[in-house]
This record gives sequence, C-alpha cells and structure tokens, in this order.
Amino acid sequence: MNVALCPGSYDPVTVGHLDIITRCSAMFDDLVVGVVDDSFRKTSLFTTDERVFFLEESTKHLPNVRVMVLKGLVVTLAREVGAHVLVKGLRAVTDFEYEFQMAQLNRKLDPDLETMYLMASPEYSFLSSSGVQEIAKYGGGISDLVPEVVE
Ligand code: ADP
Repeated sequence: MNVALCPGSYDPVTVGHLDIITRCSAMFDDLVVGVVDDSFRKTSLFTTDERVFFLEESTKHLPNVRVMVLKGLVVTLAREVGAHVLVKGLRAVTDFEYEFQMAQLNRKLDPDLETMYLMASPEYSFLSSSGVQEIAKYGGGISDLVPEVVE
C-alpha cells in the first residue's frame, strides 16, 4: 500500500487545500489528512472537532481519504499510519523557506520519510485560511474560497 500524509492546520479547509488533497488522492492508495490538534495551536479559530468535521464532509466523495488528528510530531503519525511520503502544497516563494526548513527537520527525524510538494493550482495560489478568516470577519463573500459546509 502506498500511503501519503497531508498535514496542516486547515483552519478552515479551503478549496486550495481540497485541490491538493484531490490531486494527491489520485496518486496514492490511501491518503491521511492530519489535522493539527488544538493543544498545539492555541490560536485556532475553529476547534479540532470542527476542523476535522469540515474536512470529513468535504472529502466524503473521495473513498481513499481519511482524516485524523495530529497530536504530536508529523513523523510519528506518518509512522503510525504507514505513510512513506508527506505531501504539501506550495503556493509561492514565501511558502518555500518555511517548507524547506520543515522538510529538512523531518528528514533528520526520519530519513525514510520523503516530503513531496504539489504546486498550487494558479487559481488558488493566493488562497490561505487566514485570508478567508479575514474576509469573513468583515462580511466579505467566501463562497468561492471554501466548501459549502465551511461557508
Ligand atoms: P495555511 O494555514 O497556510 O492556509 P495549512 O497549515 O492549513 O495552511 O496548510 C496545509 C498545507 O496546505 C500546506 O502544505 C500548505 O502549503 C498547503 N496549502 C494551503 N493553502 C493552499 C493553496 N491555496 N494551494 C495549495 N496548497 C495550499
């Protein structure tokens, strides 16, 4: 079984995340979406349960995708679910520096775990959860940016 793990905060999941998850699910037998737990991310707008629910609802048409809570190191969850690959989305050069550092640290922790990057689709390359939060806070429309359950 080829298993991949897509870790993130998904606060909330956007159509940009879903684009990466959908493309990734077509390449692996099994895809685990790891949602960073509240206890590791005290500034979340949505609780862990809410973020997991939004992802479960918006990926239920993808049979090989399951959503799990990420309570510790990404490498630990990867080992638990038998994933040999981490898959992340890359939007712009601004994502690169952080992702480069994370990939090197994770490689140090588990040299057998590869990190792969999918380039964001151009129509979503501007889209972030924090941007969606900001727009919604001031009453802007977010229907094109998030799945219906989040809106
Ligand atoms: P953020 O809070 O930056 O929106 P997360 O931590 O929830 O993102 O992201 C999980 C993964 O999804 C990361 O690899 C991130 O780069 C990727 N990602 C987030 N938004 C997009 C997008 N619009 N297109 C492609 N990848 C994305």
